[in-house]
Amino acid sequence: MKPDSPLTRRALVRGLAGTGVAVAATVPSLDTSAATASPTSRRAMVRARQRFFGKSNVHPRTGAVRRDRVVLSWFGCTSFAVAMNGTVLLLDAWVPRGQHSGYVPTDPDEVAGLAPEAILLGHGHFDHAADVAPIATGCGAVVVGTAEHCAQAREHAGEEHVRVRRLGSVDSPPGTTYRFRVGNIGATAVKHLHSAASAPDAEDPHAPLVPPPDPSSVVENPPTPSDVLDTASHLPDEEGGCLLYQLRMPGFRLAWNNSAGPLEDEAPEVLEVLRGLPRSDVHVGTIQGFNQPVNGLRDPRMYIEALRASVFVPCHHDDWAVPGVSTNGAHYEKPLRAELQRIPKRRRPQVRFLTDPADYIRPGRLTFHV
Ligand SMILES: [Zn+2]
Ligand SMILES: [Zn+2]
Repeated sequence: MKPDSPLTRRALVRGLAGTGVAVAATVPSLDTSAATASPTSRRAMVRARQRFFGKSNVHPRTGAVRRDRVVLSWFGCTSFAVAMNGTVLLLDAWVPRGQHSGYVPTDPDEVAGLAPEAILLGHGHFDHAADVAPIATGCGAVVVGTAEHCAQAREHAGEEHVRVRRLGSVDSPPGTTYRFRVGNIGATAVKHLHSAASAPDAEDPHAPLVPPPDPSSVVENPPTPSDVLDTASHLPDEEGGCLLYQLRMPGFRLAWNNSAGPLEDEAPEVLEVLRGLPRSDVHVGTIQGFNQPVNGLRDPRMYIEALRASVFVPCHHDDWAVPGVSTNGAHYEKPLRAELQRIPKRRRPQVRFLTDPADYIRPGRLTFHV
């Protein structure tokens, strides 16, 4: 673990006490932002939260989300709005568009309207972080990521102020761990690796996984010129290192990774760190990656095995890009279930499979009782 600067006074005291706990920047509490918002923006916030987290889970006047539910709402690729222990945050921040328009039924304005306290970034590529600047400037959320992720968010926001919380840098060694708090949630971030092709694994051989292209999302949802331009302008965005997060509240742990690198070949120490984390209840993880034409879903499976969650939720398998780069997520269901057969039954998680576009912004699909 690596010490860092404080999020709360309690965390500061803990840090000063030499626990080595790394903690994040101050973020406004949900109640404060609700109280200071104009009636119009508060109504928009309540509306957005009711849509993303379910009407029965959100207070109709304050927008507070009930604490005995953990609710995730998928808005494409690896981006999720999360309500946990009353705290609202985002995991990644991109509404997929450009190759199509309107396939994911929301936009950055509505996502900013959720008034998340923080945006946790897994890495900086456009399919994860292209909407960080408009969302962060729209709601004041703290951007959490490596120094490079934070610099990129600020650069894209131009002169506008974006609050950031840096967790190391692209050069931090894989396996470096950071602890911090966001609102009512404790969090651990682990530096890991972006997906990449590696040599064929002779001991754990796989057939190439190349799902067939499916142009239906593009044909049925043709892109607008402004969406094409917006996404094109983010194509050069840098990775800036990869972070995996585990979020904690009493009685529940959620793990999320937006890329899955060839850890076994290049950074086995990260697998050790993941095995050393307390077991997760739910793991939301990418399954698409650059190694799948060589080693199938081996790398995502290694993350799944190491994190030991009861429930696994796949992401990044949906049709977020042009045909040939992505396809409808349904094509991944059989390969994923087959891959998980390689995990002994008693340790194999249940799969809560997400289908695009039906499961976008469908909170009932990812609501967990605590
Ligand atoms: Zn990437
Ligand atoms: Zn990606």
